[in-house]
Amino acid sequence: MARYTGPVCKLCRREGLKLFLKGSRCLNKDKCSFEDRKNPPGPPPKKKGKVSEYSLQLREKQKVKRIYGVLEKKFREYYEKASHMEGITGELLLQQLERRLDNVIYRMGFAASRAQSRSFISQGHIVVNGHKVNVASYQIKIGDKVEIKPKLTKTPNMDMIIKFSQSLNRHPDWVTPDYINFTGEVIALPKRENVDMPIKEQVIVELYSK
Ligand code: SF4
Repeated sequence: MARYTGPVCKLCRREGLKLFLKGSRCLNKDKCSFEDRKNPPGPPPKKKGKVSEYSLQLREKQKVKRIYGVLEKKFREYYEKASHMEGITGELLLQQLERRLDNVIYRMGFAASRAQSRSFISQGHIVVNGHKVNVASYQIKIGDKVEIKPKLTKTPNMDMIIKFSQSLNRHPDWVTPDYINFTGEVIALPKRENVDMPIKEQVIVELYSK
């Protein structure tokens, strides 16, 4: 599975926004480098002109891809699928991103970041409806039951993650995690208001539909 392996904090500076890519570290003001270094990486632009519409659309797309850890090919596939579905394309695009297994594990609070969730999935720690799933892009549906394998639940790392998740109490209402049995259920499909980052999905739709 292709993925970005460069320095992630740089991505926050590039997008001018905290993207929360490093779990608990992102909530610690002393450890988050974006807190005192917000300028984009690389040399400053030679001249400051008006930013083109295309450039704004491109930035918005890059930002969303980085939040969810998705590369261009897969992201485009989500858009194509959303554009052929009934409903608002931008919202359907976000819904598919939210329905990815890596995001669901993160939303349930069994991983401190989507990147960590992807690593748990690729290591074979995640079971969906009784079957091991090692594909981070697996699309969950209503009624799916997720389980974390005991090999992972018994680690001190998982203990810390659960304490972190419980302290934030952040899981959205479309998932119901059980931190005692390390299971969770998807009880509804994610809605637009469940996306907690500032995203202008319509701008991305405009970019792709050119
Ligand atoms: Fe971004 Fe800060 Fe998290 Fe690094 S620690 S990924 S800069 S939010």
